[in-house]
Amino acid sequence: MTIAYHEVYVHPLPENHRFPMEKYSLLAGQLKRQGYGDDASWIEPGLALERDIQRVHDEGYWNRLKSGQISRHDERASGFKWSPQLVRREQTIMEGTLQCARRAAEGEVALNIAGGTHHAFKDRPEGFCLLNDIMIAALHLQHEKLAKNILVVDLDVHQGNGTASMAKYHPNVFTFSMHGAQNYPFRKEESDLDIALPTGTTDQAYLSALDEGLTQAFSLSKPEVVFYQCGVDVLETDKLGKLSLTAAGCSERDRMVLDRCKSFQVGVACSMGGGYSASIGHIVDAHMATFHHARNLWS
Ligand SMILES: [Zn+2]
Repeated sequence: MTIAYHEVYVHPLPENHRFPMEKYSLLAGQLKRQGYGDDASWIEPGLALERDIQRVHDEGYWNRLKSGQISRHDERASGFKWSPQLVRREQTIMEGTLQCARRAAEGEVALNIAGGTHHAFKDRPEGFCLLNDIMIAALHLQHEKLAKNILVVDLDVHQGNGTASMAKYHPNVFTFSMHGAQNYPFRKEESDLDIALPTGTTDQAYLSALDEGLTQAFSLSKPEVVFYQCGVDVLETDKLGKLSLTAAGCSERDRMVLDRCKSFQVGVACSMGGGYSASIGHIVDAHMATFHHARNLWS
């Protein structure tokens, strides 16, 4: 297994911000303490190339973003205050997912400690997402002829609207999003397969919907590579999520997705996505479960 992490993921810490950036360094530290330092190959990503970014994002948007000329409106929508460090951070996260995707194309499991920036659209940022890591990595794989059929399994509690809006123009990128019906984004885009769950959905109903969704998504997309956006804002402890998964249910969710990839002999690139539990320990523990199942299944 491969793990992508760069300390720039943690910076810059936005002021007055509810988004717990610290989880990235806490997660990296916890993984090393639990032996993943030796069991996994760690990569420190560099900066994503402009040609990979521009295969997905509008040239004008990327130019405005890198030079700090994005509009106030876009800056507000992004949730971040612009800085050159922020652009560097985003480019590093993009490259982390891209490198994970290249490993996944070889049949491996690879996990980026950040990423899952599924609200970024072709020409605008939204909801803490400036550039769309999964689309950048997916189109890179196709361009390099490393994979043709790609499946995106997006289980963050918020719909993968940016990804869906772009993937609809790429018939070999199949998007499956399972999310809270009554949650942001309130205007949803159309994925190839959407499962919108009622507020308060608990483990059993969630896992049975997931089982059916995975069966349908794998059968329709016949993937050579899977991207897994494994946001942990589905937890009952999450302040924004509105679903009611226990930690055990969230862990079982990860096991089911990774097990399905393994049984189809398909490599998978994971991006961590969101997590807004009041206690950062709950967030880190839930992400640790994803790594645990990845290590068990691919060892
Ligand atoms: Zn989310």
